[in-house]
Amino acid sequence: MEVVFLGTGTSQGVPVIGCRCKVCCSTDERDRRLRTSAMVEVDGMRIVIDAGPDFRQQMLRESVNHIDAILLTHGHTDHVAGLDDVRAFNFVDYPEIHRVDIFAAPYTAKTVLKVFDYAFAQNKYRGVPEIDLHTIELSQPFMVGSVEIVPISGKHSRFDVTGYRIGKFAYLTDFKEIADEEIAKLKGVEVLVVNALRFEPHDSHFSVTEALNIIEKVAPREAYLTHMSHEIGLYDEASSHLPKGVQFAYDGLRVKI
Ligand SMILES: [Zn+2]
Ligand SMILES: [Zn+2]
Ligand SMILES: [Zn+2]
Repeated sequence: MEVVFLGTGTSQGVPVIGCRCKVCCSTDERDRRLRTSAMVEVDGMRIVIDAGPDFRQQMLRESVNHIDAILLTHGHTDHVAGLDDVRAFNFVDYPEIHRVDIFAAPYTAKTVLKVFDYAFAQNKYRGVPEIDLHTIELSQPFMVGSVEIVPISGKHSRFDVTGYRIGKFAYLTDFKEIADEEIAKLKGVEVLVVNALRFEPHDSHFSVTEALNIIEKVAPREAYLTHMSHEIGLYDEASSHLPKGVQFAYDGLRVKI
């Protein structure tokens, strides 16, 4: 299994438009973050987690010409705004149409149906995304082809959010709280990804300290932090505060499991 970090930035991305802070002005590529998303290659399948506003750029950068499924964590714009661009995958082998399977918790599916209502309309106009939206049950694993996926529930301040475990890999983003029963589902994970917005506390996202607490409980072999804001500081400087086995992810980073 291989995971590629497509984007590792918070909702505004880094650099932030108009910002002149040292992180936004940094020339280190690892300080430039598209909106958070990852692609998992497993059993010959390509599964993308979230499709934010940078989805098109991310697919182009990684030269992706086919995906098997998209798993959504929640309905915030920085995680779903790119869904319209799945059209490209629909028409790659035109006139053959490849529909794209999207898996989401009920609360996320509701947002997708509302925001992208034109893709689900009775009388669709030509060229809208051809999507099959599958609403998952949070209490049990589901299959994407031959791959079993375990949903992990959490709280993102007053919103609900879904993380995913795929074999020895698990990915949590936009979490602020996670119950012990859900942490128990992460037992035996070797590579864990957790969101960490910045060092200071925040009301709807884990800080670095909160993310490290979860990592300590799960005790994976390696852990990566994602969904960082420019307030995290420069990559090298911020990294010096992390314990062994934990690192900040950066765009384009690939991890083998
Ligand atoms: Zn987000
Ligand atoms: Zn900045
Ligand atoms: Zn969010």
